[in-house]
Amino acid sequence: ATPSPRRPIRDLPDELISQIAAGEVVERPASAVRELVDNALDAGARQITVRLAAGGVRLIAVEDDGCGIPRDELPVALRRHATSKITNLHDLESVATMGFRGEALAAIASVSEMALLSRTAQQASAFALDARSGELRPAARGTGTTVEVKELFFSTPARRKFLKSDTTELAHCVEAVRRHALARPDVGFAIWHEGRLVEQWRASAAPDVDADAALRQRLGDVLGDDFLRNSVPVQLRLGAVTVTGRAGLPDAARSRADQQFCYVNGRFVRDKVLTHAARTAYEDLLHGQKQPVYALYVQIDPQRVDVNVHPTKIEVRFRDSREVHQAVRHAVENALAAPRAQALAAASA
Ligand code: ADP
Ligand code: MG
Repeated sequence: ATPSPRRPIRDLPDELISQIAAGEVVERPASAVRELVDNALDAGARQITVRLAAGGVRLIAVEDDGCGIPRDELPVALRRHATSKITNLHDLESVATMGFRGEALAAIASVSEMALLSRTAQQASAFALDARSGELRPAARGTGTTVEVKELFFSTPARRKFLKSDTTELAHCVEAVRRHALARPDVGFAIWHEGRLVEQWRASAAPDVDADAALRQRLGDVLGDDFLRNSVPVQLRLGAVTVTGRAGLPDAARSRADQQFCYVNGRFVRDKVLTHAARTAYEDLLHGQKQPVYALYVQIDPQRVDVNVHPTKIEVRFRDSREVHQAVRHAVENALAAPRAQALAAASA
Protein backbone atom coordinates (compact mmCIF):
# COMPACT_ATOMS: atom_id res chain seq x y z
CA ALA A 1 0.00 0.00 0.00
CA THR A 2 1.18 3.54 -0.69
CA PRO A 3 1.92 5.51 2.47
CA SER A 4 -0.64 8.17 3.33
CA PRO A 5 0.56 11.61 2.17
CA ARG A 6 -1.13 13.12 5.18
CA ARG A 7 0.95 15.02 7.72
CA PRO A 8 -0.14 16.13 11.15
CA ILE A 9 -1.99 19.42 11.60
CA ARG A 10 0.14 22.06 13.26
CA ASP A 11 -0.16 25.73 14.18
CA LEU A 12 1.90 27.87 11.86
CA PRO A 13 4.67 29.92 13.46
CA ASP A 14 3.70 33.56 14.04
CA GLU A 15 6.29 34.91 11.66
CA LEU A 16 4.98 32.69 8.85
CA ILE A 17 1.38 33.74 9.54
CA SER A 18 2.42 37.36 9.10
CA GLN A 19 4.34 36.56 5.94
CA ILE A 20 1.30 34.83 4.49
CA ALA A 21 -0.89 37.81 5.43
CA ALA A 22 1.72 40.10 3.88
CA GLY A 23 1.06 38.40 0.55
CA GLU A 24 -2.46 39.84 0.62
CA VAL A 25 -1.64 43.28 1.98
CA VAL A 26 1.73 44.08 0.42
CA GLU A 27 2.02 43.31 -3.23
CA ARG A 28 4.69 45.88 -4.05
CA PRO A 29 6.33 48.97 -2.50
CA ALA A 30 3.28 51.09 -3.38
CA SER A 31 1.07 48.91 -1.17
CA ALA A 32 3.34 49.59 1.80
CA VAL A 33 3.32 53.31 0.98
CA ARG A 34 -0.47 53.29 0.93
CA GLU A 35 -0.72 51.56 4.31
CA LEU A 36 1.84 53.86 5.94
CA VAL A 37 0.17 57.00 4.59
CA ASP A 38 -3.20 55.64 5.79
CA ASN A 39 -1.68 55.35 9.25
CA ALA A 40 -0.25 58.87 9.14
CA LEU A 41 -3.67 60.27 8.18
CA ASP A 42 -5.37 58.27 10.92
CA ALA A 43 -2.86 59.83 13.34
CA GLY A 44 -4.09 63.29 12.35
CA ALA A 45 -1.00 64.32 10.38
CA ARG A 46 -0.99 67.71 8.60
CA GLN A 47 2.22 67.06 6.73
CA ILE A 48 3.41 63.70 5.37
CA THR A 49 6.78 63.17 3.76
CA VAL A 50 7.57 59.99 1.85
CA ARG A 51 11.21 59.17 1.11
CA LEU A 52 12.04 56.37 -1.28
CA ALA A 53 15.11 54.66 -2.66
CA ALA A 54 15.23 52.26 -5.61
CA GLY A 55 11.52 52.68 -6.30
CA GLY A 56 10.74 51.89 -2.66
CA VAL A 57 12.43 48.47 -2.64
CA ARG A 58 15.55 49.67 -0.82
CA LEU A 59 13.77 52.21 1.36
CA ILE A 60 10.34 53.58 2.17
CA ALA A 61 10.29 56.11 4.99
CA VAL A 62 7.01 57.81 5.84
CA GLU A 63 7.31 60.71 8.22
CA ASP A 64 4.31 62.44 9.80
CA ASP A 65 3.49 65.08 12.39
CA GLY A 66 0.57 63.12 13.81
CA CYS A 67 -0.17 62.09 17.38
CA GLY A 68 2.73 59.67 17.69
CA ILE A 69 2.88 56.26 19.37
CA PRO A 70 3.69 56.15 23.12
CA ARG A 71 6.95 54.41 23.96
CA ASP A 72 5.30 51.43 25.63
CA GLU A 73 3.01 50.84 22.68
CA LEU A 74 5.71 50.75 20.01
CA PRO A 75 6.17 46.97 20.26
CA VAL A 76 2.38 46.51 20.35
CA ALA A 77 1.98 48.45 17.08
CA LEU A 78 3.96 45.73 15.33
CA ARG A 79 1.84 42.88 16.60
CA ARG A 80 -0.71 41.20 14.37
CA HIS A 81 -4.33 42.23 14.93
CA ALA A 82 -3.28 44.97 17.34
CA THR A 83 -5.00 48.28 16.67
CA SER A 84 -5.97 51.48 18.47
CA LYS A 85 -8.82 52.13 16.03
CA ILE A 86 -11.60 49.75 16.97
CA THR A 87 -12.40 47.77 20.08
CA ASN A 88 -15.63 45.95 19.19
CA LEU A 89 -18.00 44.94 16.42
CA HIS A 90 -20.03 48.11 16.81
CA ASP A 91 -16.93 50.20 16.05
CA LEU A 92 -16.25 48.09 12.99
CA GLU A 93 -19.71 48.80 11.61
CA SER A 94 -19.21 52.54 11.71
CA VAL A 95 -15.45 52.77 11.22
CA ALA A 96 -14.24 56.23 10.24
CA THR A 97 -10.50 55.57 10.11
CA MET A 98 -8.52 54.25 7.14
CA GLY A 99 -7.18 51.33 9.16
CA PHE A 100 -8.86 48.99 11.63
CA ARG A 101 -7.49 45.51 10.92
CA GLY A 102 -4.23 45.94 12.81
CA GLU A 103 -2.39 44.05 10.10
CA ALA A 104 -0.30 46.41 8.06
CA LEU A 105 2.71 47.05 10.27
CA ALA A 106 3.01 43.37 11.26
CA ALA A 107 2.70 42.28 7.65
CA ILE A 108 5.20 44.79 6.28
CA ALA A 109 7.64 44.11 9.14
CA SER A 110 7.56 40.39 8.35
CA VAL A 111 8.87 40.98 4.82
CA SER A 112 11.29 43.86 5.43
CA GLU A 113 13.58 45.48 7.93
CA MET A 114 11.34 47.90 9.76
CA ALA A 115 12.05 50.58 12.31
CA LEU A 116 9.59 52.85 14.11
CA LEU A 117 10.59 56.25 15.43
CA SER A 118 7.92 58.09 17.32
CA ARG A 119 7.14 60.72 19.88
CA THR A 120 3.87 61.81 21.45
CA ALA A 121 3.28 65.39 22.56
CA GLN A 122 3.54 64.30 26.22
CA GLN A 123 6.96 62.66 25.89
CA ALA A 124 10.22 64.48 26.52
CA SER A 125 11.97 62.47 23.84
CA ALA A 126 11.26 60.18 20.92
CA PHE A 127 11.90 56.43 20.93
CA ALA A 128 13.09 54.17 18.18
CA LEU A 129 12.17 50.51 17.87
CA ASP A 130 14.00 48.08 15.63
CA ALA A 131 11.43 45.51 14.58
CA ARG A 132 13.83 42.61 14.09
CA SER A 133 15.92 42.92 17.25
CA GLY A 134 13.20 44.48 19.39
CA GLU A 135 15.75 47.02 20.59
CA LEU A 136 14.07 50.16 21.95
CA ARG A 137 16.16 53.27 22.55
CA PRO A 138 15.72 57.03 22.97
CA ALA A 139 16.01 59.05 19.77
CA ALA A 140 15.47 62.56 18.52
CA ARG A 141 12.50 63.98 16.64
CA GLY A 142 9.46 66.20 17.16
CA THR A 143 5.93 64.93 17.79
CA GLY A 144 4.91 62.38 15.20
CA THR A 145 6.04 59.14 13.67
CA THR A 146 8.51 57.91 11.10
CA VAL A 147 8.15 54.38 9.82
CA GLU A 148 11.16 53.12 7.95
CA VAL A 149 10.92 50.06 5.72
CA LYS A 150 14.12 48.74 4.22
CA GLU A 151 14.79 45.90 1.79
CA LEU A 152 11.19 45.00 1.12
CA PHE A 153 10.76 41.29 0.28
CA PHE A 154 14.41 40.52 1.11
CA SER A 155 13.22 37.35 2.85
CA THR A 156 10.75 36.41 0.13
CA PRO A 157 12.78 36.37 -3.11
CA ALA A 158 9.85 34.89 -5.04
CA ARG A 159 7.86 38.06 -4.39
CA ARG A 160 10.83 40.27 -5.08
CA LYS A 161 11.20 38.72 -8.51
CA PHE A 162 7.75 39.98 -9.48
CA LEU A 163 8.76 43.59 -8.97
CA LYS A 164 9.19 45.77 -12.03
CA SER A 165 11.90 48.34 -12.68
CA ASP A 166 12.61 51.00 -10.05
CA THR A 167 11.02 53.57 -12.35
CA THR A 168 7.79 51.59 -12.56
CA GLU A 169 7.67 50.88 -8.82
CA LEU A 170 8.33 54.56 -8.12
CA ALA A 171 5.44 55.52 -10.41
CA HIS A 172 3.13 53.19 -8.45
CA CYS A 173 4.32 54.70 -5.15
CA VAL A 174 3.64 58.21 -6.44
CA GLU A 175 0.20 57.11 -7.63
CA ALA A 176 -0.56 55.72 -4.16
CA VAL A 177 0.26 59.07 -2.55
CA ARG A 178 -1.61 60.95 -5.28
CA ARG A 179 -4.79 59.03 -4.39
CA HIS A 180 -4.47 60.13 -0.80
CA ALA A 181 -3.60 63.68 -1.76
CA LEU A 182 -6.78 64.03 -3.84
CA ALA A 183 -8.85 63.10 -0.79
CA ARG A 184 -7.08 65.38 1.69
CA PRO A 185 -6.40 68.93 0.51
CA ASP A 186 -5.98 69.85 4.18
CA VAL A 187 -2.80 67.76 4.42
CA GLY A 188 0.55 68.55 2.80
CA PHE A 189 2.42 65.79 0.97
CA ALA A 190 5.98 65.51 -0.31
CA ILE A 191 7.63 62.61 -2.11
CA TRP A 192 11.39 62.26 -2.40
CA HIS A 193 13.26 59.67 -4.43
CA GLU A 194 16.97 59.24 -3.78
CA GLY A 195 17.32 62.79 -2.51
CA ARG A 196 15.30 64.37 -5.31
CA LEU A 197 11.92 66.01 -4.67
CA VAL A 198 9.50 64.18 -6.98
CA GLU A 199 6.17 65.73 -5.97
CA GLN A 200 4.99 68.27 -3.46
CA TRP A 201 1.40 69.23 -2.72
CA ARG A 202 0.98 71.94 -0.14
CA ALA A 203 -1.76 71.87 2.47
CA SER A 204 -4.61 74.23 1.83
CA ALA A 205 -4.39 77.31 4.06
CA ALA A 206 -8.07 77.33 5.03
CA PRO A 207 -9.70 74.00 4.18
CA ASP A 208 -12.50 74.55 6.71
CA VAL A 209 -13.45 78.00 5.49
CA ASP A 210 -13.84 76.98 1.86
CA ALA A 211 -13.67 73.23 1.27
CA ASP A 212 -14.62 73.60 -2.41
CA ALA A 213 -11.79 76.00 -3.09
CA ALA A 214 -9.36 73.75 -1.23
CA LEU A 215 -10.38 70.73 -3.28
CA ARG A 216 -10.23 72.70 -6.52
CA GLN A 217 -6.74 73.85 -5.69
CA ARG A 218 -5.59 70.33 -4.82
CA LEU A 219 -7.12 68.82 -7.97
CA GLY A 220 -5.25 71.41 -10.02
CA ASP A 221 -2.00 70.78 -8.18
CA VAL A 222 -2.21 67.01 -8.52
CA LEU A 223 -3.92 66.48 -11.87
CA GLY A 224 -2.86 69.70 -13.59
CA ASP A 225 -4.64 72.88 -14.63
CA ASP A 226 -5.87 71.10 -17.76
CA PHE A 227 -8.01 68.90 -15.58
CA LEU A 228 -9.61 71.94 -13.91
CA ARG A 229 -10.15 73.79 -17.19
CA ASN A 230 -11.73 70.75 -18.83
CA SER A 231 -14.02 69.65 -16.02
CA VAL A 232 -17.18 70.83 -14.28
CA PRO A 233 -18.11 70.69 -10.61
CA VAL A 234 -20.28 67.85 -9.33
CA GLN A 235 -22.60 68.42 -6.40
CA LEU A 236 -25.66 66.39 -5.59
CA ARG A 237 -27.44 64.98 -2.61
CA LEU A 238 -29.82 62.09 -3.14
CA GLY A 239 -31.31 60.55 -0.04
CA ALA A 240 -28.51 59.38 2.20
CA VAL A 241 -25.82 59.87 -0.43
CA THR A 242 -23.85 63.02 -1.23
CA VAL A 243 -21.67 63.19 -4.33
CA THR A 244 -19.16 65.97 -4.94
CA GLY A 245 -16.03 66.45 -7.03
CA ARG A 246 -15.42 67.22 -10.68
CA ALA A 247 -16.32 65.49 -13.91
CA GLY A 248 -14.24 65.95 -17.05
CA LEU A 249 -15.80 67.33 -20.21
CA PRO A 250 -16.18 64.83 -23.06
CA ASP A 251 -13.21 66.41 -24.86
CA ALA A 252 -10.98 65.59 -21.90
CA ALA A 253 -11.67 61.85 -22.22
CA ARG A 254 -8.63 59.65 -22.64
CA SER A 255 -7.80 56.36 -24.22
CA ARG A 256 -6.97 54.89 -20.82
CA ALA A 257 -9.00 54.93 -17.62
CA ASP A 258 -6.09 56.36 -15.69
CA GLN A 259 -7.80 59.48 -14.36
CA GLN A 260 -10.85 58.06 -12.66
CA PHE A 261 -10.69 58.64 -8.95
CA CYS A 262 -13.54 57.44 -6.74
CA TYR A 263 -13.74 57.93 -3.00
CA VAL A 264 -16.17 56.63 -0.45
CA ASN A 265 -16.05 58.52 2.85
CA GLY A 266 -12.53 59.69 2.01
CA ARG A 267 -11.24 56.25 1.07
CA PHE A 268 -9.98 55.61 -2.47
CA VAL A 269 -11.89 52.66 -3.88
CA ARG A 270 -12.19 50.64 -7.03
CA ASP A 271 -15.83 49.90 -7.40
CA LYS A 272 -17.91 48.65 -10.31
CA VAL A 273 -21.08 50.37 -9.09
CA LEU A 274 -19.37 53.77 -9.09
CA THR A 275 -17.51 53.41 -12.38
CA HIS A 276 -20.59 52.02 -14.10
CA ALA A 277 -22.74 54.86 -12.81
CA ALA A 278 -20.24 57.46 -13.99
CA ARG A 279 -19.83 55.75 -17.34
CA THR A 280 -23.60 55.69 -17.83
CA ALA A 281 -23.75 59.44 -17.26
CA TYR A 282 -21.41 59.89 -20.25
CA GLU A 283 -23.31 57.42 -22.42
CA ASP A 284 -24.47 59.76 -25.15
CA LEU A 285 -21.40 62.02 -24.90
CA LEU A 286 -18.55 59.59 -25.34
CA HIS A 287 -18.15 57.24 -28.21
CA GLY A 288 -15.99 54.21 -28.75
CA GLN A 289 -13.44 53.33 -26.13
CA LYS A 290 -12.91 56.85 -24.78
CA GLN A 291 -12.60 56.93 -21.00
CA PRO A 292 -13.97 59.87 -19.02
CA VAL A 293 -11.85 61.59 -16.38
CA TYR A 294 -13.26 62.44 -12.98
CA ALA A 295 -12.69 62.72 -9.27
CA LEU A 296 -15.84 61.79 -7.39
CA TYR A 297 -16.35 61.84 -3.66
CA VAL A 298 -19.22 59.86 -2.22
CA GLN A 299 -20.28 60.56 1.35
CA ILE A 300 -22.58 58.01 2.88
CA ASP A 301 -23.57 56.88 6.33
CA PRO A 302 -20.76 54.46 7.32
CA GLN A 303 -23.43 51.99 8.39
CA ARG A 304 -24.55 51.73 4.77
CA VAL A 305 -21.20 50.63 3.42
CA ASP A 306 -19.03 47.67 4.38
CA VAL A 307 -15.32 48.48 4.06
CA ASN A 308 -14.22 45.16 5.49
CA VAL A 309 -14.43 43.24 2.23
CA HIS A 310 -10.81 43.01 1.20
CA PRO A 311 -7.53 43.13 3.18
CA THR A 312 -6.42 46.20 1.25
CA LYS A 313 -9.85 47.85 1.68
CA ILE A 314 -9.78 48.99 -1.93
CA GLU A 315 -13.15 47.31 -2.45
CA VAL A 316 -16.32 48.15 -0.59
CA ARG A 317 -19.85 46.77 -0.53
CA PHE A 318 -22.85 49.06 -0.42
CA ARG A 319 -25.91 48.01 1.49
CA ASP A 320 -28.06 49.57 -1.24
CA SER A 321 -25.98 49.80 -4.38
CA ARG A 322 -28.93 51.06 -6.46
CA GLU A 323 -29.18 54.14 -4.30
CA VAL A 324 -25.47 54.86 -4.76
CA HIS A 325 -25.59 54.15 -8.49
CA GLN A 326 -28.48 56.56 -8.95
CA ALA A 327 -26.85 59.28 -6.91
CA VAL A 328 -23.57 59.10 -8.81
CA ARG A 329 -25.24 58.86 -12.18
CA HIS A 330 -27.53 61.81 -11.54
CA ALA A 331 -24.73 63.85 -10.01
CA VAL A 332 -22.55 63.46 -13.08
CA GLU A 333 -25.46 63.86 -15.51
CA ASN A 334 -26.48 67.11 -13.83
CA ALA A 335 -22.91 68.38 -13.94
CA LEU A 336 -22.74 67.60 -17.64
CA ALA A 337 -26.15 69.08 -18.51
CA ALA A 338 -24.83 72.40 -19.81
CA PRO A 339 -21.97 70.86 -21.83
CA ARG A 340 -24.44 68.30 -23.22
CA ALA A 341 -26.85 71.03 -24.36
CA GLN A 342 -23.96 72.82 -26.07
CA ALA A 343 -22.85 69.65 -27.82
CA LEU A 344 -26.38 68.99 -29.06
CA ALA A 345 -26.75 72.58 -30.27
CA ALA A 346 -23.44 72.37 -32.09
CA ALA A 347 -24.43 69.07 -33.67
CA SER A 348 -27.75 70.39 -34.99
CA ALA A 349 -26.32 73.69 -36.22
P1 ADP B 1 -4.36 49.62 11.81
O1 ADP B 1 -4.02 50.84 11.03
O2 ADP B 1 -5.36 48.76 11.10
O3 ADP B 1 -4.74 49.92 13.22
P2 ADP B 1 -1.52 49.03 11.57
O4 ADP B 1 -0.78 47.75 11.64
O5 ADP B 1 -1.43 49.81 10.32
O6 ADP B 1 -3.05 48.70 11.90
O7 ADP B 1 -1.06 49.95 12.79
C1 ADP B 1 -1.16 49.45 14.11
C2 ADP B 1 -1.32 50.58 15.11
O8 ADP B 1 -0.10 51.32 15.20
C3 ADP B 1 -2.38 51.59 14.77
O9 ADP B 1 -3.66 51.18 15.23
C4 ADP B 1 -1.88 52.85 15.46
O10 ADP B 1 -2.30 52.88 16.80
C5 ADP B 1 -0.38 52.69 15.44
N1 ADP B 1 0.23 53.48 14.34
C6 ADP B 1 0.70 53.01 13.17
N2 ADP B 1 1.21 53.99 12.42
C7 ADP B 1 1.07 55.13 13.13
C8 ADP B 1 1.40 56.51 12.90
N3 ADP B 1 1.99 56.91 11.76
N4 ADP B 1 1.10 57.40 13.88
C9 ADP B 1 0.50 57.01 15.03
N5 ADP B 1 0.18 55.73 15.31
C10 ADP B 1 0.45 54.80 14.37
MG1 MG C 1 -2.98 50.85 9.21
